[in-house]
Amino acid sequence: MGVIWEPRLDAAAAGWRERARTATVRQFAPLAAEIDRDQRYPHESIPVLVESGLCGMFLPVEHGGGGASLTALTAAAEEVAKGCATTAAIISTYQLGAFPILLEGSDAQKRTYLGALARGRSISFALSEQGSGSDAAALATTAVREGAGWRLRGEKFWIGNGGISRFYVVFAKTEPAAGAHGISAFVVDKEKPGVVVDHYSDKMGIRGTRTSNLKLDTLVGPEDLVGTEHRGLRLAFRTLDVGRVVVAAQALGIALAAYEAARDRALARRAFGQPIVDFQGIAFQLADVATTVSAARMMMYEAARAYDAGESVTTIGAMAKLHATEVAHRAVDIAVQIWGGEGYCRPSLVERLYRDQRITEVYEGTSEIQRLVVGRAIKAEAEALAKVA
Ligand SMILES: Cc1cc2nc3c(=O)[nH]c(=O)nc-3n(C[C@H](O)[C@H](O)[C@H](O)COP(=O)(O)OP(=O)(O)OC[C@H]3O[C@@H](n4cnc5c(N)ncnc54)[C@H](O)[C@@H]3O)c2cc1C
Repeated sequence: MGVIWEPRLDAAAAGWRERARTATVRQFAPLAAEIDRDQRYPHESIPVLVESGLCGMFLPVEHGGGGASLTALTAAAEEVAKGCATTAAIISTYQLGAFPILLEGSDAQKRTYLGALARGRSISFALSEQGSGSDAAALATTAVREGAGWRLRGEKFWIGNGGISRFYVVFAKTEPAAGAHGISAFVVDKEKPGVVVDHYSDKMGIRGTRTSNLKLDTLVGPEDLVGTEHRGLRLAFRTLDVGRVVVAAQALGIALAAYEAARDRALARRAFGQPIVDFQGIAFQLADVATTVSAARMMMYEAARAYDAGESVTTIGAMAKLHATEVAHRAVDIAVQIWGGEGYCRPSLVERLYRDQRITEVYEGTSEIQRLVVGRAIKAEAEALAKVA
């Protein structure tokens, strides 16, 4: 048994993790440094994601997916992130785009988009805008009734797999006066007139992923509405509840890679006549990383277990993301420190991990937003207790 806590996975989840490990060792990890350096989307990895079943593993079998649990998805995402954070982020994009349709899409939408996703054709999740990231209810894109459908006008920002995906789940205001209760979700085809994907972001980390903007002045039909009209923001939040657990897995995969790199370096590197791991100052840092990564993994796997058991994960998922991403932040920082000058200079594994980790504290809700979610739960609990008393 290793120092870091390991989840006890059931046979199915362990199988998915093994598949992820095999594909990572064979395909994703060997490309990680190059796609980061060249900021290049790893097109050649998509067939491997399809063949291994990883891209659609979380979809029901009837839609061509693997019928995997969230526990299995987090185990696989963690394993992939350990070898290539970009590929793990791409898997997250698949999940994020698919979940609105999986949760509330019509049968026709499920047949059309989920089957394609299992074959490697991603759908993107388009909620954020320049003026509304954390404050999603403030989004400005509108969907105004035109004929039997709606005209969508606005611009979405920072869309994962933007330009790679043909289809986008776009959130737009159908009832502007109703605020958070007047937003609806629509599937938009980028090949339609009035849809333009542009501005590819030049990012600090996960540089092999594609992040772009989506300009809209286009018509969608009634068949493109996902879920219930005006209830789109609730659908976005239900999707993010799951996504946050997957981002926690990304962060922990990166943290595990950083821990192992720091541990191995601390044994191999000598200073003052001894391996630096024999300095208490170094061993204590590694001990803190091993302890906090273990604790964060326990929390993440508990969040995944809760979801698989049909429980709400709004609070535990927010906690898992918050804790895992902040633990990972510290882990990559310590890894760079233990690697010294070599850790700071390119090409260095820990330098890349340092940059790749940072996004996990920003997307799918910043750390402050996770604290806000947990804070709201605390207030609701306090109010409920006060009523009983
Ligand atoms: C690489 C990348 C990929 C992304 N992928 C997607 C995607 O696929 N789809 C998508 O829709 N979006 C995506 N995003 C957008 C991402 O989700 C947002 O950037 C994120 O939610 C933060 O929003 P913001 O950037 O507008 O920051 P802001 O909301 O402007 O926040 C700025 C700062 O203020 C803080 N803050 C805001 N409100 C509060 C508050 N109430 N209390 C305390 N602090 C607060 C924030 O925590 C943050 O530190 C992506 C972003 C990046 C960089």
